[in-house]
Parts: sequence; structure tokens; C-alpha cells
Amino acid sequence: MQPSTLNPQPATDFEVHDPAVLAQARAVIDACRSGQEMQEAVLAAVRRNERWRGEQCINLLAPEAPTSPTVRALLAAEVGTRAAEGHIGKVNRWFAGTQNIDEIEALCVELLKKVFRARYADHRLVASMIGNMAVYTALTEPGDVIMSIPQPFGGHSSNRIDGPAGVRGLKIIDVPMDPVELEVDLDLFRRMAPLVRPKVVALGASMTLFPFPLAEMAEVMAEWGGRLFFDGAHQLGLVAGGQFQDPLREGAAVMTGSAGKTFSGPQSGVIVWNDPSLTEPITTAIFPVLAATHQVNRVAALAVSAAEMLEFGQVYMAQIVANARALDAALEARGVPVLAAHKGYTSTHQVIADVRPFGGGLDVAHLLARANVVTNKNLIPGDTPADWDRPSGLRMGTIEVTRLGMHEQDMDIIAGFMARVLVEKEAPEDVIEDVIEFRSAFQTLFYNFDHGLPPAP
Ligand SMILES: *Cc1c(COP(=O)(O)O)cnc(C)c1O
Repeated sequence: MQPSTLNPQPATDFEVHDPAVLAQARAVIDACRSGQEMQEAVLAAVRRNERWRGEQCINLLAPEAPTSPTVRALLAAEVGTRAAEGHIGKVNRWFAGTQNIDEIEALCVELLKKVFRARYADHRLVASMIGNMAVYTALTEPGDVIMSIPQPFGGHSSNRIDGPAGVRGLKIIDVPMDPVELEVDLDLFRRMAPLVRPKVVALGASMTLFPFPLAEMAEVMAEWGGRLFFDGAHQLGLVAGGQFQDPLREGAAVMTGSAGKTFSGPQSGVIVWNDPSLTEPITTAIFPVLAATHQVNRVAALAVSAAEMLEFGQVYMAQIVANARALDAALEARGVPVLAAHKGYTSTHQVIADVRPFGGGLDVAHLLARANVVTNKNLIPGDTPADWDRPSGLRMGTIEVTRLGMHEQDMDIIAGFMARVLVEKEAPEDVIEDVIEFRSAFQTLFYNFDHGLPPAP
């Protein structure tokens, strides 16, 4: 989505990354007298982030979730150094010595089936992007027509021309969206879809406030055998915890999702489906097409995250949504306009503000970050995809603040910090100490077997 004119330079030394940041890293490496000093430079940057983002910031990035201590520790497990290509089972693997790995992976698959109430699940997606590529590989042929949500309504590159769907050579038509209600325009879909007969309709979005009319859309598509694909990257944990719609039960043929967003597990992907006829195309798209060595440490961590969701998912996800609604209301009360206020606020973990009165998404996000409140700029209806660099909106999510044990009244305090910077125009440097002090009381991660539930407010 980013134009290649970013950082214009002579073609011979084109860097997509910011050349100044790379030059700074080269200067650090050049100043080192040994490999060990180079190692220390890396470790120091990691420590700086852990101290700042991990202990002193109010992290409101909607796609981020802190993992439980057990899940985080598993990411360094010995099993992560083992090679285990292929499907589970002695005959299916290339390598001998995988009996415990088979056990771990089978536990993961069965836990995923259980937490998503699905007949089939796969554990080998190192990213949800790859899950979406697997779906398009399995369910479409190059040249097929699909429909997906355009970016200003939260559509994600993985389902658009600049991602896996585009790489598959698909013709992509927009799912019609209602810019006020922020939901699918079902009447328009009923009129449009039969004209183009999409093989797949991809739903789910990175900006996501409300459920989708899956059953109604599936009914329309049944006429030509089209399939609904729910990209639940963001909502995966909400689905697991029963706090959002249940896509597989409402007509989606397949659901993918990010394990590291609301699901609060290791960053990677999940895919689930019910129809046995999809098992062969989906699993062969995963192996041998899109995943070989699939990081068994991550699989173990994913399995534990699923167990955490089975035990804590319902209360954890309900609190995430309650906090998002409280943040919506508290921001609006302080003069920061939020989307969907007329509908009684969000029904997910996300809060979307229209920050044009305060200078737009880019400037606002960087201003707030100077006060240790981390958010991101976001396209909102009214923007075009070309506005990606300076969009009108600001996106927030309540996953991390919830896992740290915060409740509704804490959202009011957070909205207060934001309003001091945006509405009252206080310098972020005058707010940061109060943010750090507030955050210092929240340093334990809850809704897991390490620390249980948070103390009541
Ligand atoms: C985040 C996101 C993805 C990509 O997920 P990764 O796990 O980061 O690969 C795909 N689709 C949507 C809608 C997303 O928001």
C-alpha cells in the first residue's frame, strides 16, 4: 500500500527502510571493537524497549497483546530448535525423533478445535497472512473474482490487491460498506454479489467495531456456491471467549486469525474449518506450499494460549470489550470524537477516534507517544487508500491494559491523560510523569494460570 516513492534515492542504493535509521545502526556497529560489543548493542536496544514499552507505557495498539509468563517462556524452549516438517505422525514426517513433538502438536490441534468449537484446525501458520494465502491457494484459481473490504473501512492488505489475494491473481471487488453504520451494506451486497458471483467473500477487518451479517451473506452466495471466508485476525480471542459472533456457526466456511491479537498468544496464525472436503486443499496449501519448519516452541506456546482461553477467555474478553466501551465514552465526554457513538459504542476491543480536530492521525499518534500513550494512525471512512500516510483517524485497543488488570474506571484515567495532551494542549512532557506513575501500579499480567484473575476494582 505504500508508494515506492517513499525515501526517493538513486535506484542503485534504494532502501525501503528509513536510510537514516540504517545509517545509525551502521555507525553503532562500526564503533564496536568486537562481536560481543555488537551483541551488547542488540541486547541494550531490547532492554530499552522492555523498560519503556513493557513497564512505562500505556500500550493501546489494537493488534498487540502481552503473553502470559508461561507462554513467553515457552518461546525460548529447547523444542524450538528442532526440525519438524510435515503432518503429525511417524510416517508423515521426514525426520525421526519427533514423538514428543507429535504429542505437543497434537495437543495444540485438539485444543484449537476445542476452543473454536471446530472440526478441523491447523497449527503451522507462522503468521495469519500465511493463513490467508493458504485460503486463497485452497479455495481459488488465478483470475477468480472475490470480494473483500476496502482499506478505509478496515480492510487488510492480505485480502486486497497488494497482498496474498493479489499475488494469487484474483480480481477483487469491494464489499459495500455503510460509512455511517460501519457495517456491511447488506441491501447493496444483495444486489451486487449476484452480478459478479464471487468465489470467495472475505470478511473481517483491521478496523473492526461490529459483527458481520454472515448468515444473510452466506444465503445470498449459496445460489452459486460461493464461500464465506472470515478473516478473524483481530477478533480471534473474542470469538474464542464467546464475546463476538461465531463465524463457523453462522455460515463462514473457514476462519483464520492472528494468535497474537485478542487471542493473546504467540504472534502467528490459526486456521479452523468444519467441512471435511476442505481439509485436503487447506492442509496441502499449508504443507508443502507455505510452511516447512513451523517453530514448535511457538506451537507449544499456542497450545498453552488455547488452554488459557478455555479457562479465562470468557471473563478476559468480556472485560476487554467493557473497557473499550468505557474508553469510547470517556474520550467522547472529554471532547475527542469517536466513531459509532450513535450506536452505543464499539462491540469489540477497538476504539476509533476521528482526530482531524487535533491535527490528524499521524501527528496525534506521535504526540501521544511522547506522553507514553501508544496508539496508531488509521484510515477511517472519508479517507482514501492514498491517505495512508496522513489519515484522519486514531485506532486504540484495550487488550494489554485489560490483561494488566485495568477496569472501566482506569479507562477514564487514560482518556484524561489523552485529553490533557489533545484538548487542553498540555505539553506531552508535562503529562508523562503522571502516565508512568499510573502505569507503575499495573505490572502483572492476569487471565492466565500464572496469576489468575485480577483483583476486583
Ligand atoms: C493483522 C491482520 C492480518 C495479518 O495477521 P498477522 O498475524 O500479522 O500475519 C490479516 N488480516 C487482518 C484483517 C489483520 O488485521
